Amino acid sequence: MSKQDFDVAVVGGGMVGAALARALALQAFSVVLLEAREPALDWTADSYDLRVSAITRASQHLLQNLGVWQVMVEDRVTAYQQMHVWDRAGFGEIHFDAADVAEPDLGHIIENRVIVRALWRSLEAAGVAVRTASQITGFDATEDGVHLALAGGATLRVGLLVGADGAKSQVREMAGIESRNEPYDQHAVVATVHAELGNRSTAWQRFMRDGPLALLPMQRDLFSIVWSTTPDGAQQLCDMPEDAFNTRLTEASEARLGALSVLGARAAFPLRLQHAERYAAPGLALVGDAAHVIHPLAGQGVNLGFLDAAALVDALVEGRSKGRQPGAMRTLRVYERRRKGHNTATQLAMDVFKHLFSNDSSALSLLRNLGLGAAARLGPLRRTFEKVALGDGLDLPTLSRRPRSG
Ligand SMILES: Cc1cc2nc3c(=O)[nH]c(=O)nc-3n(C[C@H](O)[C@H](O)[C@H](O)COP(=O)(O)OP(=O)(O)OC[C@H]3O[C@@H](n4cnc5c(N)ncnc54)[C@H](O)[C@@H]3O)c2cc1C
Repeated sequence: MSKQDFDVAVVGGGMVGAALARALALQAFSVVLLEAREPALDWTADSYDLRVSAITRASQHLLQNLGVWQVMVEDRVTAYQQMHVWDRAGFGEIHFDAADVAEPDLGHIIENRVIVRALWRSLEAAGVAVRTASQITGFDATEDGVHLALAGGATLRVGLLVGADGAKSQVREMAGIESRNEPYDQHAVVATVHAELGNRSTAWQRFMRDGPLALLPMQRDLFSIVWSTTPDGAQQLCDMPEDAFNTRLTEASEARLGALSVLGARAAFPLRLQHAERYAAPGLALVGDAAHVIHPLAGQGVNLGFLDAAALVDALVEGRSKGRQPGAMRTLRVYERRRKGHNTATQLAMDVFKHLFSNDSSALSLLRNLGLGAAARLGPLRRTFEKVALGDGLDLPTLSRRPRSG
C-alpha cells in the first residue's frame, strides 16, 4: 500500500476539531485540518464574544494537557466559585460553593474565540497542516484509505476522516448518517451585560416558564447571558429598545445582581436536540456538535465534544499499538461505545430538565420545588451535581484527567 498523505483529516476547526487536531499531532499522527472559514484571531481588548462556554474541570484538564490553558488564562478566562439555581415560582433554590468541595472554583467561563485562538496558535508548532477556506466535496472510503475530493479540484488520501464540522455537518450528511433532529420550541438570546452589583464570581440560573435564564460571570462587573425563551419572545427581546430590554432582564433576574444593562449586540440562536445514529463508519468518525447537539441549559455542549476528542485519541492510540489503521472499524467502535451512551444520558437529562421546568402544571411545580429543595438538602445528591461540574464523576479519557504536574 502506498503512503497516505495524512493519517487523519479533521474537517472543521472549531473548539473541538482544533483540540482534536492538536491532540492527535502530539501523539505523532500526521494531521491535516480543513476549515471552511478564515477564523478571526484578532480583536480589540474592549470587545466581547457573544458566544461563551462554561468549561468543566475535565475540559480544563484537556486544555492543560494540550498546553494551551495558560495562554487562555493570560488572555481572558473567569473562574466562578459559586452558583445559584432557582425556580420562577415557589421556593426551590440550590446553591453550590467551591469551598464545600475544597476546590478553588466550580469551573470557568470563557469566550469561545479565546479557546479557538489558543488552539489555532498551537497547531503549527504541533505539526498540524492547516488549510483554511477549504472544504471537501466528496469522499470514498476504500481498502487503501479515504480519498477526499476538495473544492478546487485537489485530492487527498488519508487513513481517517473526522467530521468536526458542527451541527450542520456536511461530513455526516455525505456519509449518509441519519441524525435524530428535534427543534426545541425555544431560541436562546445571548448578550454581554453590565451588573450593578459586580460579578461576585457567581453563576446564576433562573428557571422560568418559557425557558432558563443563565447569567455567566465575566470580567469585573460583566456577565454573559443565555436567555432561552419562545422563538417569538426571543425576537422581541432582540428587537426591543435597550431600556426596555434592561428592565425585562433585571426583572427576570429578580434584581439579584442589581440593575442589569446590555452592552452592544444581542443575538438569538435556535435550540435543538440532535443526535447522529452512529459516530463511526469505515474510515470515518464524528465528534462534537457534528455528532450531538444538546440544550445549553447546563452548558455541556463543548464539554461533551472535548470528551469525544479525548476518547477518540485514546482509541486511535490503542488501535495503533495493536497494528490497526486509524480508519479500522474495530478502533472506531471502541470510540463510539465509550462516548455514545454518555452523550445520550446527558441529552436525556437536559431534556427532562427542560420539560420539567417549562411546564405550568402544579404537580410538576411541586416536584420541581421538592427537587431543588431536596437537592439543596441532601448531601449525596449535591455531591453528584458538583462532581459533574468538576468532571470527577466519569471514567475519563486520558487527556481529560488531571495533569500530573500543575
Ligand atoms: C446559546 C448557546 C450557548 C452555549 N453555551 C455553552 C456552554 O456554556 N458550555 C458548553 O459546553 N457548550 C455550550 N454551547 C454549545 C457549544 O457552543 C457547542 O457545543 C460547540 O460550539 C461545538 O463545537 P464544535 O467544534 O463541535 O462545533 P462548531 O463550534 O460548530 O465548529 C464547527 C467548525 O467547522 C467549520 N465548518 C463547518 N462546516 C464545514 C465544512 N463543510 N468544511 C470545513 N469546515 C466546516 C465551521 O466553520 C466551524 O469552525 C452553547 C450553545 C449555544 C447555542
